Amino acid sequence: MLAVHQAADGGLARIRVPGGLLSVTQLDVLRSASLDLGDGRLELTSRGNLQIRALRPDGPQELSDRLYRAGLLPSLTHERVRNILVSPLSGLDGRYDVLPLAAALDRALCAHPGLADLPGRFLFALDDGRGDLVASGADVLVQAVDSREALLSLGTHGVRLSWGEVVEVMIAAAGAFLEVRDGAEWRIAEVIDGSRRILERLGLEATGELPVAGAPTEAGEHGSALVATVPLGSLTQEQAVVLTEVAEWVRVTPWRSVVLPAVASAPLEAVGLVTTPDSVWSGVTACAGRPGCAKSLADVRGDARRVVPQLARDGRRVHWSGCERRCGKPAGVFVDILAVGNGYLVDGELKETW
Ligand code: SF4
Repeated sequence: MLAVHQAADGGLARIRVPGGLLSVTQLDVLRSASLDLGDGRLELTSRGNLQIRALRPDGPQELSDRLYRAGLLPSLTHERVRNILVSPLSGLDGRYDVLPLAAALDRALCAHPGLADLPGRFLFALDDGRGDLVASGADVLVQAVDSREALLSLGTHGVRLSWGEVVEVMIAAAGAFLEVRDGAEWRIAEVIDGSRRILERLGLEATGELPVAGAPTEAGEHGSALVATVPLGSLTQEQAVVLTEVAEWVRVTPWRSVVLPAVASAPLEAVGLVTTPDSVWSGVTACAGRPGCAKSLADVRGDARRVVPQLARDGRRVHWSGCERRCGKPAGVFVDILAVGNGYLVDGELKETW
């Protein structure tokens, strides 16, 4: 049921969490599954999903069974295409609450047989108006404008909708993408004149208006929520246990952090989660590296854990990569730390020792 990728350290299972929302019961199911069946960690991805690495050979079936019982595998046919991002603080700090729309969109997606053919990279995003998902590269992005209207954006073309028609039009846009693509394209941006042709099929006319971009959510208190950065996006058993003890739910963000209801920060900090925006771990990401990836020239996460606390920062994000593919790199400018066998290239300059 789960598509499991074979990595150098065993099976790699991605668990899709539309909207990022997990009850702590579900988080605990994932925590214990990673302990029993994988390497014990839960990885947070740049799409707000979770991954379990190093699955043992009988792991995928057992994991599928556990996810199904926990309500995390609602559709056998559409699992791969349930890619839905939501502004992680939506409804928690005074902006529109678009999270219920994610659930409605997920249900509508799974109920549409033809949309099981969407490419696994096709991405929907619901932005509550703060602009934090504009840089997510979503194929179909909806941004709140006010209490009556939202802006639907398909890359280079935008059109205003009433909230009542948002889900229906997002689903229709995905269906129209399948009609206009040649078969090889994975994203709307890869289809020549794709966004205009899709709007035409939907009978909608672009207004020229595009969504307003904003910054990703930083760690710290925000309204009735607390955001905690998970260093390198790798949640340990101890950290996951503490999350299940202090909160009733968590929201996984696309920036390797989690949103919690307002809770005390001390228990989180005690296990290495970061609840302030000025931490050395803010904006630091790394690819899988060794031993998870056979292509990697270094244990980038191990090296990052050792070096990051002493690394001088200039405000840019930082990404560590084990090879030139730079998996998981952030959008926009970032400090590029690339393993090359005899050390690392830091923005192109060789550093042999740290
Ligand atoms: S960047 Fe290279 S080493 Fe890192 S996970 Fe991707 S393929 Fe593997």
